[in-house]
Amino acid sequence: MAARKITVVVSQAPGKNPNKRQLEEEIATQLILSGTAEVSLIPHLYDLPEDHHGMLWLRSISGDIVVCSWLYPRATRWVLDRNDIRGHEGVSLLKSDEDDDDSEEAVGESPQGIGSVNVPNRKIYVLDLRQHTEAAVYIREIERIANEATVPLVSLGSLGLTNGFAAPKPAPALAITSPFVATNGTTVPVIAETEARRRWYPVIDYSRCTNCMECLDFCLFGVYGVDGMDRILVEEQDNCKRGCPACSRVCPANAIIFPEHKTPAIAGAATSAVGDFKIDLSKLFGAPSALEIAAQERDVELVADGREAVGMQVGIPKRQTEKPAQPRDALDDLMDGLDSLDF
Ligand code: SF4
Ligand code: SF4
Repeated sequence: MAARKITVVVSQAPGKNPNKRQLEEEIATQLILSGTAEVSLIPHLYDLPEDHHGMLWLRSISGDIVVCSWLYPRATRWVLDRNDIRGHEGVSLLKSDEDDDDSEEAVGESPQGIGSVNVPNRKIYVLDLRQHTEAAVYIREIERIANEATVPLVSLGSLGLTNGFAAPKPAPALAITSPFVATNGTTVPVIAETEARRRWYPVIDYSRCTNCMECLDFCLFGVYGVDGMDRILVEEQDNCKRGCPACSRVCPANAIIFPEHKTPAIAGAATSAVGDFKIDLSKLFGAPSALEIAAQERDVELVADGREAVGMQVGIPKRQTEKPAQPRDALDDLMDGLDSLDF
């Protein structure tokens, strides 16, 4: 039986790195030549405004979808969710050379968060283009996904309002610019090729977020808010200070992702242990704690804005000031484990 055509969207890397462009175009070309998928290229997903044609295009796709991007899959998934592009997680079998047993365990952990809302009956598969340099690896995985994709199509028009955005719109009249011509003469839509301006903002992983509101208390720049269901929300994303990841250090659930940050745990790597371990090591060696670093980073931005530094006096999570009353957590267990190592 012929494989069902699945929709593949390639989110291009920011900038003009020729190797990255080549990989993106090889994937698109080979998929078209094989007839496996409908393919389109969009600018870097994280930078796209909600009304960008690339985002409108993504929102208009109603069936299973594969998104290839230059971000950690968890970051891509929650950037999509933030933009009302939702579906059940399609499992990718792609592994990078760096994958180890720990990361597999982390992926398999049960989510403890409040979860997403209004998730339609379809799957979204996310492939990380940083994992491999050969297009053939991605083609094989997409072909496998196309063969497994059996979920019936659903209409996004039946979905409700979420996260403060308008309801999903019908397919837009696409602004297709400079279509990329594959070697068989077929064109691949490049949706609004003009690059969106670079952005920097937090993305919430609701599979981990417990809605504790500590980020709302901590951020003094009006980035966070609550939606109509009293769920935490990144409301004014462009108020965030470029390069600053302060609130990700404050979040007790490691649920705040800055997809472009150089630290994997902050950028959306699957493991949650990295962030905890970072906090412990800093305490172990007398360095500032993660909360102190966060307060310092926030102070830098306050002063840059002509405001007073507040240090640890404002919005520091209760778990810090009331720590003796808190139940044991993973941090306590890890500290005990380190103590027992006797070094
Ligand atoms: S601090 Fe983290 S867990 Fe708490 S509401 Fe914010 S994102 Fe969610
Ligand atoms: S990084 Fe700073 S400015 Fe940006 S959301 Fe977090 S606390 Fe607010």
